[in-house]
Amino acid sequence: MDKIRMTTPLVEMDGDEMTRVIWKMLKDKIILPYVDLKTEYYDLGLNVRNETDDQVTIDSAIAAKKYGVAVKCATITPNAQRVEEYNLKEMWKSPNGTIRAILDGTVFRSPILVKGITPYIPTWTKPICIARHAYGDVYKNIEEKVEKGSKAELVITDKNGDVQRELIFDFEKSDGIVQGMHNLNSSISSFARSCFNYALDKKLDIWFAAKDTISKKYDHTFKDIFEDVFEKEYKEKFEAVGIKYFYTLIDDAVARVIRSNGGYIWACKNYDGDVMSDMIATAFGSLAMMTSVLVSPEGIYEYEAAHGTVQRHYQKYLNGEETSTNSVATIFAWTGALRKRGELDGIKELCDFADNLEKATIDTIESGIMTGDLYLLSTLPDKKKVSTEAFLDAVKEKLASLY
Ligand code: NAP
Ligand code: MG
Repeated sequence: MDKIRMTTPLVEMDGDEMTRVIWKMLKDKIILPYVDLKTEYYDLGLNVRNETDDQVTIDSAIAAKKYGVAVKCATITPNAQRVEEYNLKEMWKSPNGTIRAILDGTVFRSPILVKGITPYIPTWTKPICIARHAYGDVYKNIEEKVEKGSKAELVITDKNGDVQRELIFDFEKSDGIVQGMHNLNSSISSFARSCFNYALDKKLDIWFAAKDTISKKYDHTFKDIFEDVFEKEYKEKFEAVGIKYFYTLIDDAVARVIRSNGGYIWACKNYDGDVMSDMIATAFGSLAMMTSVLVSPEGIYEYEAAHGTVQRHYQKYLNGEETSTNSVATIFAWTGALRKRGELDGIKELCDFADNLEKATIDTIESGIMTGDLYLLSTLPDKKKVSTEAFLDAVKEKLASLY
């Protein structure tokens, strides 16, 4: 078979530890034999970030903006211990945070479902994809403890210096607490556009929820901006592909999610997304089976696994011990990116390759060959735990049978 040719490069962001090991194995064993891979390579491994004063992360995000599609390996977000371990000049920021800020994007996470691993909510037969607005609210708040006898007021000074004052609470009878938070219409509308774009891309309904009945200005603004962006820019496109935008109150949304069969995107305000994404990930089984894609309002896509660098397994790998690390989310990051590149450039073989590789991966697990994390969860009668490398070899073999 001739290798599949690419016309535009994919932005490749390499990473750290066990996922870096998987990255190379996956490319060498499975992708390179089929695809004449064209990538613009950025090494976001911690040493290179340190050597370049993190410029490499910024450059990779700018490249993603230029080419439109990126695939990223998990990376270490340094803490004090990593600063020592890697002898870092600084405690560099989270690469994901830096890339997200440059692309102004929203992260969508979806579980990969396989037979033998039943979600804790068994009626969830289709994935629930969750999107979190990653700006503002309680994550950029100002809060104070207030002494009894104090008054808390909300003060807004406009551009002419005119002051508007409103009493929040008079703490005459007790000590208490007070909090100020904000959001930006520009950020909310970017979030809405990313969500509607992704819904169109996946041809899935999208739900959004807030508490507009209680929060008549703050949460209501989220509701209004979503509705306005939808009506003006997306309504007709949604009708054309037969998908729906659905708004409801957050408590009603939670009740409907539990009763649903899945198969939609759930857009969440920042705090709701923080909490609900952990619930959804746990309910579907394993973080190692969760894919993640950052989508910008202009439609730039960056694909990755939702898990980290699996440090504990990497220690074993370095000691020469056998590891059984799940590569599924990393495989799906690559298939997501290759398929998107294929769609944008009109290369059907590349889209087919992505479909086949996903099928081969799922078929491998459903035939009973899996890594340790899934082995513990799977109810298949004939299951076998294999090493990191043996799993990729089994996927390679299945893939070959599809060509
Ligand atoms: P982690 O790498 O996600 O791993 C936590 C634990 O989850 C592992 O020890 C392992 O459990 C299990 N696990 C996760 N992925 C797995 C896989 N593919 N196969 C099998 N088991 C898997 O999270 P962490 O240990 O908190 O973080 C490690 C590093 O990753 C940190 O430096 C952090 O900054 C970074 N991180 C990066 C990203 C990103 O780049 N997007 C996201 C999160 C964390 P057992 O050990 O019990 O087998
Ligand atoms: Mg959380």
